Amino acid sequence: MPESTPTETATTTTPSPDAVADLRTRVTGVVLVRGEADGGPSAAEAVAAHSTLVVHDPAVVVVADTEADVVEAVRFASAHDLPVRLHATGHGAAWPVTDGVVVATEGLAGVEVDPATRVARIGAGTRWQAVVDAAGEHGLAPVTGSSTHVGVVGYTLGGGFGPLVRSHGLTTDWVRGFRVVLADGSVVDTDAGSEPDLFWALRGGKGGLGVVTRLDLELAPLASLYAGSLTFDVEHVEDVFRGWAAWTATAPDDVSTSVVLLALPDLPFIPEPLRGKNVLTLRFAFPGDAAEGERLAAPLRALAPALADTITTIPTTAVASIHADPEDAGPSWVSGAALRTLDDAFVARFLAEYGPSSSSPFLAAEVRHLGGAATRDVEGGSAAGGRTAGYLLGLVGVNPPRVPDMVASAAALAQWSAPWAATETNVNFLPGPWTDETLSRAWSPETAARLRSVRAAYDPAGRFPFGS
Ligand SMILES: Cc1cc2nc3c(=O)[nH]c(=O)nc-3n(C[C@H](O)[C@H](O)[C@H](O)COP(=O)(O)OP(=O)(O)OC[C@H]3O[C@@H](n4cnc5c(N)ncnc54)[C@H](O)[C@@H]3O)c2cc1C
Repeated sequence: MPESTPTETATTTTPSPDAVADLRTRVTGVVLVRGEADGGPSAAEAVAAHSTLVVHDPAVVVVADTEADVVEAVRFASAHDLPVRLHATGHGAAWPVTDGVVVATEGLAGVEVDPATRVARIGAGTRWQAVVDAAGEHGLAPVTGSSTHVGVVGYTLGGGFGPLVRSHGLTTDWVRGFRVVLADGSVVDTDAGSEPDLFWALRGGKGGLGVVTRLDLELAPLASLYAGSLTFDVEHVEDVFRGWAAWTATAPDDVSTSVVLLALPDLPFIPEPLRGKNVLTLRFAFPGDAAEGERLAAPLRALAPALADTITTIPTTAVASIHADPEDAGPSWVSGAALRTLDDAFVARFLAEYGPSSSSPFLAAEVRHLGGAATRDVEGGSAAGGRTAGYLLGLVGVNPPRVPDMVASAAALAQWSAPWAATETNVNFLPGPWTDETLSRAWSPETAARLRSVRAAYDPAGRFPFGS
């Protein structure tokens, strides 16, 4: 590899044109460099974040076609002492990347399902919907997150708390193995019996370990769900929230629910009866038959008359309809927290902060019920944080001028929710940018210490920066 004569830019080092030209001869994918324009997407455009509030400006982007391209990208970064970060779908990008190499993994996407073993072999860059569809052909289902537009690998590396969290646990509980490019460019397969520390860390430790090029995921034998949502008009918001919170205290383990307060804009993409309204939507998912599902949902349906009731038998391929998260990129700002418990005092405070009469800057404020299978760690253990939490709280805002209010409101949340706060939250629900302080909330001190030592062993030079 030619010597690099680096050129300084406003923010970081860009490798020399010769070094980039050499990298281009070594990969089958595309290499994009900051400031170069050849008519195609720029480096920044190739790794655009899902939130348009976040604009990346990395020195080099390698749009990988193959695992060998990933290896070359990591070796190149190592030779030029550049950090390596990953881009699959951009859903997890909460702050701008302004240096180093970003490896884009869409070119590695793909799913193969083996119905005999019930294992899906999933390439990096794959979105959940592709897995859901491939598994559905065999009457099987992956344990996904709320949105099937999100990437499998980035989501699962955080643990993965989805709409079936109480009946089926975290997504990482279903992982059978990873294939990983390490900081020295070597490629390893890791599972419970091979490189067990790395396997433990990848099951919830999120980053700072390597590039996952493939993930093997066990699928659940599940073709349909009794699932959907109930939407209640503004006058029922308080009663339904209180009723749901009380109901969760004795809810069966095989039912997963959440509530979300929505301040819906008066815009054409919102269905007419809901346009411009403040509503509460209660999501419900039961992996069983309709008769039992109806019996289980009855106390929730009885809380108040619903504006809309979509709970019915759905194919598992329609799992994304339960939360109905928007898929288009937009100016979204998200934050989150984990709670130990919910009581009337919490509900009153939550409604005062984010309810219909508040001046909340958020479009959506949700609380997901955890517990059940989420509390049971896998044999051999995993690094997933948040198993001991009772509830996860999420906030989403989409109005750019109100971002300062969102930042202030999320900071205030950390203070006022202290009496109900869980001891640890989950990294997928952490507000960005991740600092030592925010990251310290994502794992128990013991798990965080073990993660630091696994990262130090597998990435001693910090090639894969973790946090901002
Ligand atoms: C609409 C929406 C719904 C969501 N729902 C849920 C939910 O229900 N439950 C939940 O737990 N989380 C949820 N999340 C959070 C989500 O899991 C994280 O944002 C996740 O990081 C997204 O991964 P990605 O690959 O799609 O995004 P990207 O931004 O492309 O990647 C995010 C990060 O994942 C890591 N990563 C990605 N690919 C690789 C790879 N091949 N090797 C190593 N590291 C990699 C990197 O650290 C990267 O920075 C949701 C997010 C959104 C925006």
